[in-house]
Amino acid sequence: MALTDIDLANLETKPFFKSQVNNLMEILVFSYPDINVYFYVLDPHAGFVLQDLPTNQDHVFDSIRAEVPAIEALHTRETFTSEFILNQANAAIFSRDPSELSEYSLISPMGGQDGLAGFLLTIIPISLEREDLNLSLFDKIAESVGLNSITSKLLEKFKERSDHLSVMLEVNTHLNIAATKTDFLYEISRFGKYFLHFDRAVLILHPEDTPEYFIVDSIEGDETGLQQGMSYPLFNSLVSRSILTGQHFVYKKSHKAQVEGIYRTGDYQGYLYDQVLVFPLAKVKNAPGVLVLESLTEYPVKQSEIGIFEMISQSLGAALTRFSLYERLNNYATIDTLTHLYNLRALKQRFEEELARAGRYQNSLVVLFLDLDKFKLVNDTYGHLMGDFVLRETSQIIRESIRTSDIPGRYGGEEFVIIMVNTDAAACLASARRLCTAVNEHTYEMNEIKVQNKVSIGLSEFPRDGETMPDLIQSADAAMYTAKRRGGNQVVKYEKGMVPKSRV
Ligand code: GH3
Ligand code: MG
Ligand code: MG
Repeated sequence: MALTDIDLANLETKPFFKSQVNNLMEILVFSYPDINVYFYVLDPHAGFVLQDLPTNQDHVFDSIRAEVPAIEALHTRETFTSEFILNQANAAIFSRDPSELSEYSLISPMGGQDGLAGFLLTIIPISLEREDLNLSLFDKIAESVGLNSITSKLLEKFKERSDHLSVMLEVNTHLNIAATKTDFLYEISRFGKYFLHFDRAVLILHPEDTPEYFIVDSIEGDETGLQQGMSYPLFNSLVSRSILTGQHFVYKKSHKAQVEGIYRTGDYQGYLYDQVLVFPLAKVKNAPGVLVLESLTEYPVKQSEIGIFEMISQSLGAALTRFSLYERLNNYATIDTLTHLYNLRALKQRFEEELARAGRYQNSLVVLFLDLDKFKLVNDTYGHLMGDFVLRETSQIIRESIRTSDIPGRYGGEEFVIIMVNTDAAACLASARRLCTAVNEHTYEMNEIKVQNKVSIGLSEFPRDGETMPDLIQSADAAMYTAKRRGGNQVVKYEKGMVPKSRV
């Protein structure tokens, strides 16, 4: 397909293409803050027509005849590279007195074998010399605008024909380059907006190990009323219905009576969206998750659009499966599956590495040993699921309280160890106290059950309280146990004579 076959113009009707053109322009303006860039597209009747972009100023005319000498010169060239034009000699291009501008402007053509399809016109401020501009950057951007319009045109064709296969190829390409799970949703929502209007996209996963719940995995858009990482019971909601049946559902506020709730029963209060589409990640009962698209306004949705999104969400499901297999292969040996902290094996390995470093460079190293207080009670009162939830949230509090150089791991059931390097014991003590308070002040809430929780923390310091890993852990454990005996919910620094629980 040649660029001249493509309607580069009418950006308003092509939000996907327009946003890409805008992004590309922003790269230029970011590189040269004082320039102004204008995008012109060939129109068979009116010459080259200026496209409406938010950055437009009034330097230039809305259209430029193809016979203007500067443009004619571009027409006859064989390669499409950027070229300076003299402002004074090109009054037909400028709507404003070019003498206020620098001596030159830059034209960056787009085209193919069939000729010039459009160009970027860059107005250079007086403060910039010609030599300051990296012309190949302008060439690349002009080329990219052209290429993006090809993708955009193809997408438009898919949309018209509901050419599912081609859409899937395109979606899969995007998903294959997504590096993280959040990228998946980002790619989907970027791509999906070409087909349907929505204001928020939410990826919901339904984990195999907790089939009674689903989890909010990631959110693209406003996070009001929804929290990443939250789990909801699989019961009486639109999302639940879609997971259970493997069918897609459309909710419209004007027919509210049909639905129990979107995420959970009766969650309409403060809910912003008038239209919701839910697509399962696989067309099976007990689907592995759903893609939720929420829109602030209701509008008619075509069957072909539904069909496209059914396929997009299934493709997302397949990509996620691939991704999690890959992730599992990589992390199985190092990451604890419940808390996503280091597992015991990896923790010990990191510990030995850091200890060797501390010994070599006389660096400091501090060990925190954490044990949740009366944790058995949580399990006994609310069940194991709630216990697991508390462990997950606690690990999140740990992650948020420590520095990136600290090493947190799950030592055992409800015991955590944190290794802190290159900082003094006083700073670690302060940071341990903050962590202790953060756990104490946090309300763990799942399915309207609220639980408070406390933690005891022991602290030991290399080399004062031990020179080997087992000695340091034992000292920290003894200090932790002392904290428990003093009533829990506190931090104790190891002192000689303290003994761990196992030796009492
Ligand atoms: P304290 O530490 O204050 O002495 O009391 P505790 O109730 O926390 O006592 P202990 O440390 O002996 O009990 C640990 C409990 O943690 C036992 C077990 O039920 C629970 N536990 C351990 N691993 C897990 C897990 O992976 N999930 C859940 N839900 N519970 C766990
Ligand atoms: Mg314990
Ligand atoms: Mg405990």
